[in-house]
Amino acid sequence: MNRYLKNLNRIEFIVTMACTGKCKHCSQGDHNSTDNIDKSLAADAVRRIAEEYPISSVMTFGGEPLLFPETVCEIHKTAKELKIPQRQLITNGYFSKNTDKINLVAKQIIESGVNEILLSVDAFHQETIPLEYVLEFAKAVNTSDISFKVQPAWLVSSDADNPYNSKTKEILAVFKHMGIEMNQGNVIFPSGNALKYLSEYFDMSQKSKSPYDEDPSDIRAICFSADGGILGSNAYKKDIIKILSDYAP
Ligand code: SF4
Repeated sequence: MNRYLKNLNRIEFIVTMACTGKCKHCSQGDHNSTDNIDKSLAADAVRRIAEEYPISSVMTFGGEPLLFPETVCEIHKTAKELKIPQRQLITNGYFSKNTDKINLVAKQIIESGVNEILLSVDAFHQETIPLEYVLEFAKAVNTSDISFKVQPAWLVSSDADNPYNSKTKEILAVFKHMGIEMNQGNVIFPSGNALKYLSEYFDMSQKSKSPYDEDPSDIRAICFSADGGILGSNAYKKDIIKILSDYAP
């Protein structure tokens, strides 16, 4: 086992870079790419990595991952078969305007084995994502016994008084009324679009560290890009186990 990965326990997938939102706080910037990861490559990677490392968590996100529900389902179905306990999906909840399709995808992801859904809703998402379709999705998944929570992005802090946080609180009240719990959410980090559109809210004299940065000499979570990129290599070009064994900070 590669010593730099001795504590590896989580696999994340950016299922696609395509997105239905155009959020001004998005750390990924403009979503001009429509790359999406191949479902068989992703599921096979979960299976093979879990044979070598004690994986306890698999997460799918994007872009908007439910633009490719079959890929999301294939990844989590594999994780469930392997008895990986945490099978998480982060979504903005907006992938279709068609009620039948929304209900079908909700049913498929629950059946596939997803057991935790974090729904990104807040002032930033709802500037370009219509809440009505998100609410339909929320209703469709809120009937099952999976963990389902809303996950807002806060500007400066959850206590900070600014127009965005006020709007976010109004949106969250709608979900609270539906009996949907709230996760603590995350504080927006100055990168990507957030740097471009919200810089007045950040203290740029302070060097900030992304909460998502891993210690390169003690990697606990690996993240596949939508184009197969992983740990400075690419799973389409090189065997995934070889990528892991060859990794050095
Ligand atoms: S924050 Fe999420 S929903 Fe918004 S543009 Fe970025 S990936 Fe899409």
